[in-house]
Amino acid sequence: MHLRKVIRRSPVLKAPAFGCLRGIPSVNLTRGCLHACVYCYARAFPETPRGEVWLYGNLAERLRTELRRLSARGRLPRAVTFSTASDLFQPHPEVRRLAVEILKLVLSAGLRVSFLTKGYIPEETWPLFADFSSQIRPRVGLVSISRDYHRLFEPRTAPPSVRLSQIERLSAMGLEPSVRIDPVIPGLTDREEALEALFRRLSLGGVKEVSVSYLVLRPGVIRQMARELPAGIFRAILKCYEGQPWQKVITSATTKLAKREIRERGYALFREVGRAYGLRVRICGCKNPDLPFEDCVPWERGTPDENLWDLPLFSRKIYSVKYADKFSGSGISETA
Ligand code: SF4
Repeated sequence: MHLRKVIRRSPVLKAPAFGCLRGIPSVNLTRGCLHACVYCYARAFPETPRGEVWLYGNLAERLRTELRRLSARGRLPRAVTFSTASDLFQPHPEVRRLAVEILKLVLSAGLRVSFLTKGYIPEETWPLFADFSSQIRPRVGLVSISRDYHRLFEPRTAPPSVRLSQIERLSAMGLEPSVRIDPVIPGLTDREEALEALFRRLSLGGVKEVSVSYLVLRPGVIRQMARELPAGIFRAILKCYEGQPWQKVITSATTKLAKREIRERGYALFREVGRAYGLRVRICGCKNPDLPFEDCVPWERGTPDENLWDLPLFSRKIYSVKYADKFSGSGISETA
């Protein structure tokens, strides 16, 4: 896929997302993502460029100006998150360079940083992790350790073995990486033996907590999967969504959840296997609006925005209205 440099004209620190990431401004280095995972719903957004990925060439400069202005007004956020619609660590030298520059910028400004990645973490990033260890909350996306799964669903991401080594390295530095198991593919990556194998490796890698969610389908995702997956696998996945209504989930009004009994059975198994390996399992509330809500925010907190902002960047009144509606749809979730 082609990488094109473009000028960013809108603010870098986006309005707070809702759901799991409510109140935490997010940063995306690119529009589109070079990983191009088969199930990625951000790929299907109408504003996502087709056949190329846009890199914001002026992102660092814009962000520096925004941080300076916010700091002067005493409105500096305490934390930022990466990877709401693109991976922070994508396989291109220009994206890697920008990722390191942006990380240096926000960490030096004293902000806490959470990222979620399925990519190769560049070597230049590790010294930053060591210098700013108390500000970093790393999260790694890993659904399965099967090479077949990787080849079929996310072949441009770092292979599971690389992600596991990165997890071990992060743990050895005391950074307490958590793992996002999303999207669970019904009938494929939720089998007991697959979960056992995954959790065994995660627990050996020092992981203490995972968040889990099943694949959600949207029309664009269905088209991608029909094009890019073997027909038999695609059909078997679709069966798990048969008869399900289109409904509003996170940002989209046309989303299908896997059948409730499949998810309930699967999540119970995740919890059971998690318990056996001493891992806390959280079920992503944003993508399971019909189940009791669980938050998988990267940081513990009390009230929604009290410990992430020195002063709320956005009006508390507006925030409260949105917050009341947080699980009925508005907001960004994570894709990486
Ligand atoms: S799922 Fe994440 S890593 Fe994969 S293409 Fe989408 S944004 Fe990139």
